[in-house]
Amino acid sequence: MERFGILVDYEWCSGCLSCVVACQMENDLPAGRSGVTINEIGPWKIEGQRWQHDFQPAFTSECNLCAARRAKGKLPSCVQHCQAAVLDFGKVEDLVPKLSGKGRQSLIVPC
Ligand code: SF4
Ligand code: SF4
Repeated sequence: MERFGILVDYEWCSGCLSCVVACQMENDLPAGRSGVTINEIGPWKIEGQRWQHDFQPAFTSECNLCAARRAKGKLPSCVQHCQAAVLDFGKVEDLVPKLSGKGRQSLIVPC
């Protein structure tokens, strides 16, 4: 059985929340509920001039990978609306090779 997922490369995630709003609108969800949420990590100073400050997309049990949109040949709404190209949708077998080991990446395969 083919399995699909979303590869998250959040190095350039700005925390803009466009993905969250896109999901809420696509799935008619009220404020406070979404298939994707953004965790803010930091800010704090690590050493020297380095800082920890990341925005990390995380997926929830509300995510159905936009089954209705995909049935029409469209990308998931969050992927479509992320201007920073943080989110990449595809077959798991095609996404795994894109994991570069550089960190700030995760592969999401909703149940
Ligand atoms: S994943 Fe993309 S759309 Fe979502 S907060 Fe990050 S930059 Fe914005
Ligand atoms: S894939 Fe669809 S349902 Fe899942 S978080 Fe993205 S917009 Fe929401």
